Amino acid sequence: MTSPTPAPSDGWGFETAAIHAGGGPDPGTGAVVPPISVATTFAQEAVGLHRGYEYARSANPTRSALEECLAALEGAGAGLAFASGLAAEDAVLRTVPDGSHVLLAPDAYGGTWRLLTRVHGERLRVSTCAFDDRRALVEAWTPETRMVWLETPSNPLLSVIDIEAVAAVCRERGARCVVDNTFATPYLQQPLALGADVVVHSTTKYLGGHSDVVGGFLAVDDPELAERLRFVQNAAGAVPGPFDCYLVLRGLKTLAVRMDRHCANAAAVAELLSGHPAVSSVLWPGLREHPGFAVATKQMRGFGGMVSFVCAGGETAALAVAERTRIFTLAESLGAVESLVEHPARMTHASAAGSPLAVDPALVRLSVGIETEGDLVEDLRRALDSL
Ligand code: PLP
Repeated sequence: MTSPTPAPSDGWGFETAAIHAGGGPDPGTGAVVPPISVATTFAQEAVGLHRGYEYARSANPTRSALEECLAALEGAGAGLAFASGLAAEDAVLRTVPDGSHVLLAPDAYGGTWRLLTRVHGERLRVSTCAFDDRRALVEAWTPETRMVWLETPSNPLLSVIDIEAVAAVCRERGARCVVDNTFATPYLQQPLALGADVVVHSTTKYLGGHSDVVGGFLAVDDPELAERLRFVQNAAGAVPGPFDCYLVLRGLKTLAVRMDRHCANAAAVAELLSGHPAVSSVLWPGLREHPGFAVATKQMRGFGGMVSFVCAGGETAALAVAERTRIFTLAESLGAVESLVEHPARMTHASAAGSPLAVDPALVRLSVGIETEGDLVEDLRRALDSL
């Protein structure tokens, strides 16, 4: 359907695949970037005889280029793009039968909790348990457990879960293991290779990378599951537009270099926070004292650009820091080139208030961007010194 470029399985490295998988020069014009194909419908030579495209909700050439590229980066047999991360999550949840039990790790994006409990709550049961303890996972299991859902590193506590260990339990007991790879990206971590069944992305974050597009993605290997998801994608219709697909595809090309800088800047920020008296704890998996350090070292190429910390002065201090930085912009979302700061309890995780996923109001979350390292460190130091 898309241009006949070699697949990354032909031996390409990550960066080469990010730039070339899913599209070479356009065979018609030689254009080196994929055209933004805006047509909603495609001419047929005879009834049912077409060149792979009929109607743009079902498939669109720009979307196909993105799906091919990102599937390659995740090492997946199939990739499906959606209108948002939550639309992608919703499609996965539609594949489990009514009455199923979903086991969710105890830290996750508040919107995922809201989707599970307030959209699918009448037909699915959700509970949480510690995922870093095999016994706790097995004890929480019920005969109806069909899906196990985790983020690693998680939003906003940066907890790390051993994907291989959890996926092994899922395989033994017959449930699907879903990993939200939004924080790590396929550059830092590839869950399918570790045994997961489904990878979820909010492409709104690092994959788009520039705070200018909302999107979601699923990567799977099992052809039957891919077909079911493709059916839901078309039948429910939460698909991204061609311009949005183009923006994510463009973001992918620089993912590797951006992630390297995000990781390096996050290390410098974590070091500053670790030594500051206004901070009572720093949550970043690259710190040796982080409980997930060993697992992160095993399953990730780098520790990521997200850093959270607990303010010694409680909620008042957390709100003050979030409002006093100059380069870190107070805003929701994450994963773009510019640094952001937010207060999860009142912002991204407000929908989890009162639930097992409720967040400490003294917590501040940083999305460390790719600006000059020293400027970011100074900006935070100034805000913390002012407390
Ligand atoms: N997963 C994670 C880890 C997120 O942080 C988010 C959004 O913040 C989502 C999924 C949902 O993605 P979207 O906002 O693109 O719907």
